[in-house]
Amino acid sequence: MQQVERHTLRELIVESGLKATHQRIVVYEALTLLHSHHPTAEEVHLHLKPENPSISLGTVYKTLDSFVDAELIRRVLTEEGGKRYDANITAHSHIYCSNTREVIDYEDTELEQLLTDYFKKRRVENFEIKSFSVQLTGKKVEPDKQISISRLIK
Ligand SMILES: [Zn+2]
Repeated sequence: MQQVERHTLRELIVESGLKATHQRIVVYEALTLLHSHHPTAEEVHLHLKPENPSISLGTVYKTLDSFVDAELIRRVLTEEGGKRYDANITAHSHIYCSNTREVIDYEDTELEQLLTDYFKKRRVENFEIKSFSVQLTGKKVEPDKQISISRLIK
């Protein structure tokens, strides 16, 4: 996710049905800037503190949770149960490295299609599926290197 202009962030907040207060805009901005880490509320708070010393951690938590309720962002649960936040609300999966604790977006239209087709053939009783995602958990083999996914060509 690239840096998003403040007026765009403001529009997205309003579209989600929330009032675009300064506080909400700066929290949302911090989340988009830190997106590659899928930050925790603490990380968002630390990032905001120098320029916004009056924002408390509790406020950051409340703001992020109001964003989740408004479906502006999503929560990501990690293997050890830590709560992280995701500014990317398009359908995607995640790769979680328990060594470096990185959460990396994994966008794969072929996988999404496969899952969609699969669940069309399955009946999940008394439950309306809104979305699904796959979380790959494991360890980076070489911590300093980036994870990359390529397709095997048959
Ligand atoms: Zn993500």
